[in-house]
Amino acid sequence: VDRALAVSATLQDLLQQPIDIDDRIITLDASMGISIYPDHGTRPSDLMKCADVAMYVAKRNKQAVSVYNSQNNPYDQGHLELTRDLRTAIKRNEIGLYFQPKVDMRSGILVGAEALARWRHPVQGEVPPSKFVPILEQTGLIQEFTLQVLEKAVRYCKQCERAGYEISVAVNLSVHNLRDEALPDQVEDILAEHDLDSARLTLEITESAVMDDYMKSIEVLGELSDMGIELSIDDFGTGYSSLGYLKRMPVQQLKIDRSFVSDMIMNRDDAVIVRSTIDLAHNLGLKTVAEGVETEEVLAVLGEMGCDMVQGYLVSRPLPMEEFFLFLKNCDWIVESVSAA
Ligand code: C2E
Ligand code: MG
Ligand code: MG
Repeated sequence: VDRALAVSATLQDLLQQPIDIDDRIITLDASMGISIYPDHGTRPSDLMKCADVAMYVAKRNKQAVSVYNSQNNPYDQGHLELTRDLRTAIKRNEIGLYFQPKVDMRSGILVGAEALARWRHPVQGEVPPSKFVPILEQTGLIQEFTLQVLEKAVRYCKQCERAGYEISVAVNLSVHNLRDEALPDQVEDILAEHDLDSARLTLEITESAVMDDYMKSIEVLGELSDMGIELSIDDFGTGYSSLGYLKRMPVQQLKIDRSFVSDMIMNRDDAVIVRSTIDLAHNLGLKTVAEGVETEEVLAVLGEMGCDMVQGYLVSRPLPMEEFFLFLKNCDWIVESVSAA
């Protein structure tokens, strides 16, 4: 694989040389797919097919090169079966939700929870969202799935309210949801059906999802924001949106990606990124949430930096509904470890 990647880098360099045709400078972009003999096939035609699949993955992810991986192959038997089972799970509304607390750093108050999808496959056991969400996107099942998640999350949030806990709930949106003009009305219906105040719903979106079709996304996000729903940028720092775009987005919250947060103590550059993100957010009038807070040390540094909220294993792992409710009841709003720090 390393040798193939080295060859592709050389080819990429050669292709990127500007070409001068009649005084016009032309530059080319190329995406390449790599398949390896004998891992991905023994016949030339099989290897070409795999390289082709890998190339389309590279194009879709806007990468220069990608190595074949059977999980991405829509014709792979295992993938076909997983897709079929996923379709059934959606039809039966079987995908569950876990909840992870978001805690205010100054008061230690548990202000909300992020709903995270969990799929228990009858044979394979728990399949992580990083594996099944892309399949939902490829097969057009994502719309229905998102509505199911929203419905469960909103219903649960209302249950907490009835029990005396007015927390907010956050739901993740995928790139396709942001291009779906029907979404705002559907969200409104779900909120009305459960009589939940729109301010108690947060929708998390990634930068790259917004940038994929900026104009359309802004339209959909604008409608959601006008309804009083809070919008949050997830995995902030991993995408490539410019500050100009950020300023024009109707968001209230930035979630700093956990890769920066977890390495912050060991890596000075990451600490600088976290601090600058917090300052930037505050200057734009946005709140910050640090993701992936796992240690007391990280919590203390975030406190000094003025981060507004934390989420991570230090407070709690994502929990099934009943366990989350017990957590909420036992802490009675205040998460002591956070308020003490
Ligand atoms: P995310 O929205 O950034 O969610 C946070 C992820 O970080 C979750 O992984 C969570 O379990 C994990 N996490 C939380 N605290 C810690 C920590 O302290 N340390 C570490 N190492 N990890 C932590 P999960 O549940 O596997 O979800 C992965 C991603 O899948 C999510 O990233 C989100 O992008 C996506 N996802 C999950 N549920 C949904 C959904 O209902 N709809 C959509 N469209 N995407 C979803
Ligand atoms: Mg999220
Ligand atoms: Mg995230």
